[in-house]
Amino acid sequence: MDPKSQRVKLNDGHFIPVLGFGTYAPEEVPKSEALEATKFAIEIGFHHVDSAHLYQNEEQVGQAIRSKIADGTVKREDIFYTSKLWCTSLRPELVQPALEKSLKNLQLDYVDLYIIHSPVSLKPGNEFVPKDESGKLIFDSVDLCHTWEALEKCKDAGLAKSIGVSNFNHKQLEKILNKPGLKYKPVCNQVECHPYLNQSKLLEFCKSHDIVLVAYAALGSQLLSEWVNSNNPVLLEDLVLSAIAKKHKQTPALVALRYQIQRGVVVLAKSFNKKRIKENMQVFDFELTPEDMKAIDGLNRNIRYYDFQQAIGHPDYPFSEEY
Ligand code: NAP
Repeated sequence: MDPKSQRVKLNDGHFIPVLGFGTYAPEEVPKSEALEATKFAIEIGFHHVDSAHLYQNEEQVGQAIRSKIADGTVKREDIFYTSKLWCTSLRPELVQPALEKSLKNLQLDYVDLYIIHSPVSLKPGNEFVPKDESGKLIFDSVDLCHTWEALEKCKDAGLAKSIGVSNFNHKQLEKILNKPGLKYKPVCNQVECHPYLNQSKLLEFCKSHDIVLVAYAALGSQLLSEWVNSNNPVLLEDLVLSAIAKKHKQTPALVALRYQIQRGVVVLAKSFNKKRIKENMQVFDFELTPEDMKAIDGLNRNIRYYDFQQAIGHPDYPFSEEY
């Protein structure tokens, strides 16, 4: 099989490609860049595309996917597309309408994966980030088990082939797994994961329940966005990563991506730059040694770029738990 087509089996029988194309960019980046970058990524072999209602680019990402189907580059079934249910739609009655809205923007009949973007429920409405006069987030109160049941209905309706979660800690996953009458287990937990936050305990927990861990910010993000804590060190300047990269005649970015694939993690890489999109595909061209893997494991220092600090105090804020 073409190594670029490497996939892993999800617990519901569907397959997810191990390398995914991330599409999140800060608001000031023109949405047309998401269109062009996604088209290019599909042309050079990315079969897994990650977006979300929050990113406000599903129109362009959907257009890119459809245009690459129309010109014969891929078939719909070759593409694995993930969308996410935003925090303002976690009430069960809002779940299917939110997915239908994404599908309308995408102009697709189904998504391959629909995940709860974050366990932190926010006040429903048109604002993505509802705040009160003092600038504090306005929380909502939702039982995540009820949200999950609404996702199960979306799968039964054929609107999502697979369903999962994102930014859940192990206790929140356990709550879903232990829910009486559970019909489908989450297929994945998409979380921040890179050598400075390697999530080894959460990964072990997920593996033991046949849940795939999907890594975001695998390159250490670097986005100048309201969501990213920019006081942290730059991952891709790490000396250990650089030395391993040099040894393999690769780049630190490729080492960071390869690290995830070799430990059984599905990895996302965002780039809107053609040279770097192409470079990221080279993750299949080399292998790290067990010593390299051990050295990278040793870099873990619990640095979280997306800490969602505004949501501290929410009863479902996920990052106060150890894992
Ligand atoms: P990322 O993939 O860690 O990093 C992207 C940054 O690295 C970009 O600034 C990109 O810039 C640069 N880059 C890409 N390839 C490179 C290379 N080969 N060498 C050097 N620099 C490189 O960050 P992310 O976008 O924060 O996360 C990835 C994806 O995960 C997102 O796009 C999104 O789809 C998803 N995500 C999900 C959540 C969630 O809550 N579930 C949160 C955050 C992100 P250029 O574009 O200039 O190349």
